Amino acid sequence: MSIFEDTAPRSPRRRPLRVAILGCSGSIGTQTLDVCRQHASKLKVVALSVYGSTDQLVAAAREFGAAHACVADPSHANDPILDELPGGCELTVGSEALAELAVLDDVDCVVNALVGAAGIHAGYQALKAGKVLAYANKESIIVAGDLLMPLAQPGMLIPVDSEHSAIFQCLVGERTRDLHQIWLTCSGGPFYGKSREELSLVSAADALAHPTWAMGAKITIDSASLMNKGFEVLEAHHLFEVGIDDVRVLVQRQSRIHSMVEFEDGSTLAQLGPSDMRIPIQYALSYPERWETPSQRIDWCNESPITFGEADEKTFGCLALAREAGRVGMTMPCVLNAANEIANEAFRHQRCGFLDIERIVGATMAEHSAEPVTSLDQLDAIDSWARARAAELLSERVS
Ligand code: MG
Repeated sequence: MSIFEDTAPRSPRRRPLRVAILGCSGSIGTQTLDVCRQHASKLKVVALSVYGSTDQLVAAAREFGAAHACVADPSHANDPILDELPGGCELTVGSEALAELAVLDDVDCVVNALVGAAGIHAGYQALKAGKVLAYANKESIIVAGDLLMPLAQPGMLIPVDSEHSAIFQCLVGERTRDLHQIWLTCSGGPFYGKSREELSLVSAADALAHPTWAMGAKITIDSASLMNKGFEVLEAHHLFEVGIDDVRVLVQRQSRIHSMVEFEDGSTLAQLGPSDMRIPIQYALSYPERWETPSQRIDWCNESPITFGEADEKTFGCLALAREAGRVGMTMPCVLNAANEIANEAFRHQRCGFLDIERIVGATMAEHSAEPVTSLDQLDAIDSWARARAAELLSERVS
């Protein structure tokens, strides 16, 4: 099934659209709240979750009058600040409660802004319950795409990732079978042009200085290693039903072009705009409409030249590993993702070097025999194995 409405007329969604924001204190979550603030007549925030940032949860629940609030980390269940939740706001605790927010009767649309594999269950439940799923949690699609994609009715699964939003926007109204290939753009990250030798010496602080996008710490490291771009190749492969090698990575240093699609006739469509995540977030909520921009408009007369380059898969081994995991498919992307979460965290805390990330991920993948994806429980078990194995490989290196 395609995520596009090929023939059905595109009708506006329910107004106001009742929104649940999973992970409301993170980078995507706070920017989603900003969009909801700006379009208060069209968007009603009914449910919010945080991992442990209960002060931000309470502040947002009070501002938006949310009816449901969830704290995923039980160790924050008794934070005194929670007494200040607005009257009538129902509080739930734990990761299972998180998935329950995604299926509430008074929720039309779930914004999944959870980080990492933690977001997969909630995304799955949301689609199963027939909710619109605006997802920034790309792991849902990369790891569990084989389970989620068959559940996605046309117009109900909308990417928030800027590149995939761009591709989605370029494909609306087109026939996906006319697609020749996807040009997935990439800023190149903070280490663009560096040699392997130079990369062996970079620190987490160097990686956290991303040139064009302000993001959370985990994804910023993934952007520096190009693992994030590798994930995005897998994401596009699932979402738009194209071969792994029909997703080409294109370095576009200015982050003005958010991605392009090339059709059989050689025509290429691109989506351009400010590097502001609120635009793709808002599009996921406004689709099929377009609302007043949350961002500064670009005067294209004053723009500097837009340049293109090729992504260097030899120097940035994580991109090549992600492609390899995509070619194998099945449960291999689950191992890629889990091992990367461990190695990414270790690098952020100075427990390994930058090139150790790809070494640990590659070594963990090499020990896994991929099998067809059959359930979330199976993926959870493989995820746990890969995390444990990656952690062992890390400690072997240190000792
Ligand atoms: Mg992206």
